[in-house]
Amino acid sequence: MTTIFGKIIAGEIPAEKVYEDDRILAIKDINPKAPVHILIIPKKEIPDIQSVTEEDLPLIGEVIQVAQKLAKENDILEGYRLLVNNGPLAGQSIFHLHFHLIGGSKLGPIA
Ligand code: AMP
Repeated sequence: MTTIFGKIIAGEIPAEKVYEDDRILAIKDINPKAPVHILIIPKKEIPDIQSVTEEDLPLIGEVIQVAQKLAKENDILEGYRLLVNNGPLAGQSIFHLHFHLIGGSKLGPIA
């Protein structure tokens, strides 16, 4: 099922894009939890991290490369998080795989 991120990727809903190539889109989170809060979204409609298959692994590697580039561009190399909420109990609200790139201030403990 297409989610809001599918609609953003299709250009049906606007978003503040910070990176795009054939396979990956990165946008600013609409409700940032830190000075830098970017969502790195593989365009392929994978619902969550648990659904990632072996054939998707190169794509996940590309996500990491995009995160490295955006972390450098946003000057957060001193410390950032790249995280995925997998499943409702972890706080996942949009079931199209996305990676949160968070930084720009001192980050509290995650648990
Ligand atoms: P998660 O809860 O891990 O599924 O993350 C979903 C994230 O998407 C949240 O941090 C929301 O603030 C963000 N979000 C929801 N709608 C939009 C939107 N239209 N544009 C940008 N970010 C969004």
